[in-house]
Amino acid sequence: MADKNYDAWLQWNVTNRCNLECEYCFSVPPKPNNDIPPIRISELIQTLNKSGKIFRIGFTGGEPFLIPNFVEAVQAISEKHFISINTNLTLPSVKLFAEKINPARVIFVHASFHYLQLNSKKLIENYLQNFLLLKNSGFNIYAEEVAYPPHLGRLKKDAEYLKKLGINLRFGAYYGFYDGKRYPEAYTAEEIADFNLPESEIEKFKQKGNLCNAGFNVGVVYSKGQIKPCFQYHQNLGNVYEEISFNSKLIRCEAEYCGCPMNLYDLFLYRKALSSFPD
Ligand code: SF4
Ligand code: SF4
Repeated sequence: MADKNYDAWLQWNVTNRCNLECEYCFSVPPKPNNDIPPIRISELIQTLNKSGKIFRIGFTGGEPFLIPNFVEAVQAISEKHFISINTNLTLPSVKLFAEKINPARVIFVHASFHYLQLNSKKLIENYLQNFLLLKNSGFNIYAEEVAYPPHLGRLKKDAEYLKKLGINLRFGAYYGFYDGKRYPEAYTAEEIADFNLPESEIEKFKQKGNLCNAGFNVGVVYSKGQIKPCFQYHQNLGNVYEEISFNSKLIRCEAEYCGCPMNLYDLFLYRKALSSFPD
């Protein structure tokens, strides 16, 4: 991280629309994708600069590449700040991204691989070409597939297939209910070993009682720009198009389960936050 020294992270659900329809997705409504508003770039940059901080802006969704001026927005943000992206990597504007964006300003590209959806929409080739383009252009990119319980029998084949193309596929734990059982706790020991899901991956959703920097130097952003500490704490911390106002203290988490533990997903900032509160 030495060369990526930022002060704060905003994880932005920049749209909840997507061009795929994965059955395990919890964020995508069945609406058309042709009326997605653009990012208001100059207001956003003004707000970030006014805060005096260097940011990591994490784009997620839905599918961020559906935003009509996404590459232009990333270009403007990354002049001074850093970005990260969660994407299904299928849309044509990935090529423009590879051409216009400096990989040194991109912390990572999390390229989620959704085999069944990609196959049914004939998008596997798009994913692979885009992955290799970004990899060969120097971006820090990795492929991950959700270890969704009814798909477990097939996942190893996906990994073998991608490996032949020079892509290492890793598996992420499914968070939610399936067949009356709650995951990730319901994975068997054999499944945990097969899909290389370390204990930390299973335990990470249990945060009750832990300190968290949500709202202190990290926050989540909803599609219209409203900022909150995290998806379970709904305090108003401003808007990316107006003003950002972080808290001066850390939270002791009271949530029974947390699907997106901000204290673990950016350890660099969590440690920075802890160092502001020495024992
Ligand atoms: S690609 Fe991601 S955002 Fe899109 S439907 Fe699948 S899980 Fe949801
Ligand atoms: S719910 Fe998650 S992100 Fe929110 S305070 Fe608790 S651990 Fe942090």
